[in-house]
Amino acid sequence: MVHRFRCVGEAEDGTPCGGEGPESSDFATAQKWPAEHLRDEQGHRSYEHVARTPWLMVPKEEP
Ligand SMILES: [Zn+2]
Repeated sequence: MVHRFRCVGEAEDGTPCGGEGPESSDFATAQKWPAEHLRDEQGHRSYEHVARTPWLMVPKEEP
């Protein structure tokens, strides 16, 4: 599973921030980005945690 954090905060004029951290397979590493972002943008306090899970499908019969 791969983790990423995305900022859902807004600038003072209401435009969405849209900032997001790097993907990491390590949750603790992925969590570093929102902490750094909060230090830079102290009004940005809402985040989304995006977890991506690769899913491999194999046909019953190989073509
Ligand atoms: Zn932000």
